[in-house]
Parts: sequence; C-alpha cells; structure tokens
Amino acid sequence: MKPLLLRLAAVLLLGLLLVAPVRAQGVQVVSSEAKPNFPANIKFALVAEAPASQIVAVQLLYGATRGEAMTVVDLPVTAGARVAVQHTLDTQVSYLPPGTALTYHWLIRDAAGNELDSPPQELRYDDPRFPWKERSQRNVTVLWYQGNDAFGQTLLDAAIKALDALKVEIGAELTLPVRIYVYADLQDMRSALEPNSTEWVGGQAFSGLGIIVGAIAPDNTTEIQRLIPHELSHQVLAQATENPYGGVPLWFNEGLAAHNQVRRDADWDAMVEQAAQQGRLIPLEALAANFPTDTDQALLSYAQSRNVVEFILKTYGEAKLQALVTAFAQATPVETALTQVLGRTVDELDAAWRATLPPQTETPPVLTGPQTAPPDRFTAAPTVVPTATPTTDWADWLAGLPAWVPLTATGLCCVIGVGVAGTLLLVGLRLAGVDKRTS
Ligand SMILES: [Zn+2]
Repeated sequence: MKPLLLRLAAVLLLGLLLVAPVRAQGVQVVSSEAKPNFPANIKFALVAEAPASQIVAVQLLYGATRGEAMTVVDLPVTAGARVAVQHTLDTQVSYLPPGTALTYHWLIRDAAGNELDSPPQELRYDDPRFPWKERSQRNVTVLWYQGNDAFGQTLLDAAIKALDALKVEIGAELTLPVRIYVYADLQDMRSALEPNSTEWVGGQAFSGLGIIVGAIAPDNTTEIQRLIPHELSHQVLAQATENPYGGVPLWFNEGLAAHNQVRRDADWDAMVEQAAQQGRLIPLEALAANFPTDTDQALLSYAQSRNVVEFILKTYGEAKLQALVTAFAQATPVETALTQVLGRTVDELDAAWRATLPPQTETPPVLTGPQTAPPDRFTAAPTVVPTATPTTDWADWLAGLPAWVPLTATGLCCVIGVGVAGTLLLVGLRLAGVDKRTS
C-alpha cells in the first residue's frame, strides 16, 4: 500500500502546484493544459506572464512517462509580457496507443535570461469513445466495454493465470503496470490502432508503454486463452530483460509467448515436422532478429520458435530457461548466453533440436518470393525506421489471406509490437514535435 500512498501524495502535490500559478524569477505560468482527443490529437496550451519583462521563448517538452526520451518543440512566440501558445500533436501521424501515459512541461525564457521550467504534468491518452469498465490485480488492469462483469473477471483471471505460469517458468513478474484494452471487435480495435497498419491485426503489444490492445468478443474464450497469455508473456519478458545494450532473440521471445498460450495454435507442431521432412527448416540463427516476409515462412518461424523453446524447457528445465532470461537481462550476446547456460552454441542447439524431429525424406522445394525481411524491419535503431514502414509491408503480404489468419494474426503482430513499436513511439514522439508544430 505504501507506494500507492506515496503516489497519491505526489498527485495531490502536483495538483496543488498546478492550481497555484508557478513563478520563477519573474516568469509565471498562468495556465497549462493538454486536451486529449483520441485518436486524432492532443492539444497543448500555455499562457505565461513575465510582468516585469518580456517572454521571448517557449519550449514544450513531452514524452512517454515510462520512457526517457522527451520531444522538444520550439514554439514561436511574439515577445511580450504575456504570451499564449499552443501545440497540436497529431497522433495519426505520430501514433500513440490508447492508455499511453505522457508527461509534459514547459521551458519559458524572458528577455532578461530568466528561465522557468514548469512542474511536470501527466496525461493519460484514453479512448473515451467507449464506456470502459476495468478491473485490476497484480499490476495488470483489464479494460473492456462490451460484456458483463463476469467477462471482465474472466479476462483478469486469464491474465493472473498467465502471470503465475510465467513466474514459475522464467522467474519473473510484472514490476510495472500493464493495461490490456479489450475492444469488442476488430473494427473497433482498428479504429484505435495506427492508420494503414490494421487490415490484419488481431492484437498489438506495446511493451515499452505497458499497453496491450486486442479484439476479443465477450464469451470468445478461445481468443481470451490465446491472446492474453501470449501478449502478457511479451510484457513480462520485456520488463525482466530491459536494458539499453542488448535484446532477446526473436525466436526466444515469440517462442515463449506462443508456448504460454493456454489455447495452443494446434497445427504448428505438424508444420514443423513437415518442414523437417522436406528439409526446409529455417536456421535458428536466422530467426534472431526478424522473421521472413513470406506467409508460410513466417508461420513456420513462429512454429519453430515455440518448438525450440519447448525443447529447451523439456531438455534443460525451467532453471536453465530462467538463467537464459537473466543472461539476456545482462545484455549477454545470444551466442555467449547459450554457451554459458546450455553449453551449446546457437548452431549446436539448433542441431540438437533438429535431432528430435523426423529425418528429411523429401527434396526441399524451391521457394519463390522474398524470404527475408529487410534487415531493419524489426530491429533497426530508432533513428532509421520511419513509423509506418514495418506495418505497411506486412499488410501488403497479408492482404487477402484465408480466414484462418486471424487465429495467427496476434502472433504475427507481436513481432512488430514487441520489437519496434515501443521504440518507434519514442522516436515518433521525438520527431513529431519538430514536424507538427503549430503557432
Ligand atoms: Zn507475439
């Protein structure tokens, strides 16, 4: 309870600071606000005074509360004793998922060189278009609007069960809150997701922000048992291994998430066995950073990833899986981590795993079309990936897929959600401020 009380105290203190005009060296904030208008934009507005001088410069700084990066926006001002400025953050361009917590403050300078840094204010970018109900337990909050309280409780129960399983398996729990927004259908959910990226998405995870967005109709227990544990696995692993220097191999991340689904994707094991017989298994090494763009190859990547993680669990046990997570948390390179923990290199692990599968009996088919994603698809450094890039290509090749695809869509989307979205958001925020300024 203590952290909660502290937090409440902090909120009250912040409230007091906001009620009283903030002064520093002759510069004062008369009013400061941010009006969210999900999913279109957030409008920031400031009125400030420097009665004995002239205000000559105003900057708005904002960023994800959970992140470290802040976007700085230089706002044009006409020098004067009193200035009113505003800035519109277009969240269709710089996408923010529902529930994103933002922090913002202002830097105000007068002609005499006095500078006021206003106290940070917080804003949650909620989606008020739906009458959300919510339930929380153990750092998880589920939010839903269609379906009764029992549905909400079922969602929460599935989340808690997933957290229990993950605690046993990888020895980690959520240390930061996660909010799971459950839209009633795909159409509602798409309206809350990034434009042009939503034709095929069944759910998305924004690990860096602690947000999961999914579409689950009330009483669709299959989807509850599939989506909730899968996405929570990504969140727990991301929190457990967060460090600025190294990452978790994609096959480990997606394999663990797929393994944790209470409702398994049933045909994946057969898919792996058939690929083994046909001699077209993908080298484990090639699944570290991104998955192929070809539909069948992408699905095979997920299936192989789950199979390899389950091979590690079965062969080495949970303690070794936990040791791997610890190694990744310390930014240990994959090759080193596997060698230290399992006594095998990536290739040796791959070979040991393949030895458990049926032998090759057919000649490998000739594959057509692109087999490898562009190298920066899921792993690129923040400075080189435009926000829209990762999703557009996936949407292209997924367009016109058969009806079973929604069953696997969550898995597919997770690659983007986990690998890039959080980073992209931070970068997007940083870039957006410069591009979208208003006077
Ligand atoms: Zn996933």
